Amino acid sequence: MKHTQSNSRRKFIKNTAAGTALISLGLAGLDSFAGTTKNNLITTPSMGFDQQPLPYAYNALEDVIDAMTMEIHYSKHAAAYSKNLKDAAKAEGIESTRTVEQVLSEVSKYSMKVRNNAGGHYNHELFWQCMQPKTKDNAPTGTLLAAIEKSYGSFASFKEKFADAAKNRFGSGWAWLYIDAYKGMKLGSTPNQDNPLMDISEIKGTPLLGIDVWEHAYYLKYQNKRADYIDNWWNVVNWSYVQQRFDKI
Ligand code: MN
Repeated sequence: MKHTQSNSRRKFIKNTAAGTALISLGLAGLDSFAGTTKNNLITTPSMGFDQQPLPYAYNALEDVIDAMTMEIHYSKHAAAYSKNLKDAAKAEGIESTRTVEQVLSEVSKYSMKVRNNAGGHYNHELFWQCMQPKTKDNAPTGTLLAAIEKSYGSFASFKEKFADAAKNRFGSGWAWLYIDAYKGMKLGSTPNQDNPLMDISEIKGTPLLGIDVWEHAYYLKYQNKRADYIDNWWNVVNWSYVQQRFDKI
């Protein structure tokens, strides 16, 4: 099979003009597919229903997020979303071989319990990965930085707009940097444990970066000062992880 493919590929490449035309057609086809099919941009690793190990110690983000907040957040709140998702999936006949992304893409078919817990599980698994121990001059680089600058003028201006989305989310929810179905870079926020992968969401696309603005994410250290939490959070964003997600879309 491999041999046949490489032979036909060689023949294909030989004819440069025809090859170019075919490559263009192929890309156009992919683009229109992406544009007409809502949630088919999920090319980031597919997520199961189980909670994964935290990629660092509870105290690794100290002075931005304290160890007690991390421990309660991970081992109580986030663990419960995963457990409740599994219970709800069983009760509603959702096969455990499905990915969370698949469930979210048709979450309107299921109960509020599935919506809240599939969202909660996905959002937190992403959130842990989007952070790392504090680094100096923490900022995106390369193609991700270029895309941010193209969309928002500068990294500073992007941070301001993202922070506004996070600050202005009334009550509990999340702010997102995401890529929409037309490959546009977008900012927005969602209530509760909703996210842009959900078919019921007002903003739709594939999340690159998300911040949890539920009070449980910051209240022990920052109390009512959500803005201070957001300002400080930039120090622990794992931009190479965000870049990896961006590369796969
Ligand atoms: Mn949370």
